Amino acid sequence: MPETPDWFESGISHIWLPYTQMKTAVPSLPVKSTDGVRLTLADGRQLIDGISSWWAAAHGYNHPHIIEAMKAQIDAMPHAMFGGMVNEPALTLARRLAAMLPGDLNRVFIAESGSVSVEVAMKMALQYYFNRGEKRTKFVHFRGTYHGDTLGTMAVCDPEEGMHGLFGDVLAKNLLTDLPRTAEQAEQFADFLKANAADVAAVITEPLVQGAGGMVFHTNDTLRWLREACDAAGVLLIVDEIFTGFYRTGSRFAIEQAGIVPDMVTLSKALSGGVSPLSACIARDEIFAAFYDDDPMKALMHGPTYMGHALGCAAANASLDLFEREDYAAKVHAIEGQLMAELAPCGFVENVKSVRVKGAIGVVQLHDASGLEKLKPEFVKRGVWVRPFRDIVYLTPPLVIGEDDLSALTHAIRDVLGA
Ligand SMILES: *Cc1c(COP(=O)(O)O)cnc(C)c1O
Repeated sequence: MPETPDWFESGISHIWLPYTQMKTAVPSLPVKSTDGVRLTLADGRQLIDGISSWWAAAHGYNHPHIIEAMKAQIDAMPHAMFGGMVNEPALTLARRLAAMLPGDLNRVFIAESGSVSVEVAMKMALQYYFNRGEKRTKFVHFRGTYHGDTLGTMAVCDPEEGMHGLFGDVLAKNLLTDLPRTAEQAEQFADFLKANAADVAAVITEPLVQGAGGMVFHTNDTLRWLREACDAAGVLLIVDEIFTGFYRTGSRFAIEQAGIVPDMVTLSKALSGGVSPLSACIARDEIFAAFYDDDPMKALMHGPTYMGHALGCAAANASLDLFEREDYAAKVHAIEGQLMAELAPCGFVENVKSVRVKGAIGVVQLHDASGLEKLKPEFVKRGVWVRPFRDIVYLTPPLVIGEDDLSALTHAIRDVLGA
């Protein structure tokens, strides 16, 4: 191991790392700076980024347009409280998101993390019915999904992701089922939802891709069936676009491919272009209308300290400029084609179970994942940042990645897997 900097040595015994058994963990890499699709480590080594910092850095790092917008905002006002005051970046962002999203998804609640935006969507769904005099207390959720790490969102994750084994006794009891993947399953799901409608406030799903659950894809039909079943049963539909939003699956939002309008949508990750914690929960007019009343008890009782964060919203507005200015659908289409062509040889490796690509998501799934942990340093040795998890090696590169850099990522995977 090359020398590590002083701040690493003196701080590492005080930090608590995510999803990490601190006793047995291999040392984390000290990263010093970023630029474009490259991460520079403290010792000067450079890595090509295959992950986009948990799928957030869609435009690559340090994009001058985003950096300039943030510098201007920081000089004027990094942030001011959102209670009793509003700021220009937040209201502009709300207006733009409402215009981008389909249908009457018009009311935007801006929070700081994805999990919190999902909590807000869930709270909106519960109180939507409370305000109408109906006491519905449950959510329908699906195997394979991930919606966050807070206690409320854990209770709508896949039992394994949400660690229901460990926390099951304290988590809210919701209704877990499988995503309908055939017309027959869609009918069964619709019946199941109708039978439980009196207790269910909302169905919650990720659209087209279950991300943290292992990059498992489903079709537009599944989303349409969910919308139809919710309409027939009179239950709200929450679609969590935190991973899929902003072109990751090819279209600006995954719901555009299915042509559905959910009752609430959650966004985060690429919303700020990967530079600031920021999330949004966007609700349809009818949801908002159920809170709009003379009765103060019917108001939405939620307000994170940093909500409507001016600096984060300025970054998000700059990120939206880029999405509007350039043809990201075309960029992702090119990435998709290249991923398909260049990951295909992995399919011939004995231990490979499936190779699949959707938009700017490339996945190689293994039969036996017991050796995956050991492979992680192999990627760093080859100058790429690839982080296998569960039983998959995957790529979600920045959407601006060039052909040669993407080839370096796919070839590193082929090389490490022995394709
Ligand atoms: C990452 C993610 C979340 C949680 O967002 P955080 O900002 O980590 O709280 C929720 N839903 C989906 C689909 C995600 O990918």
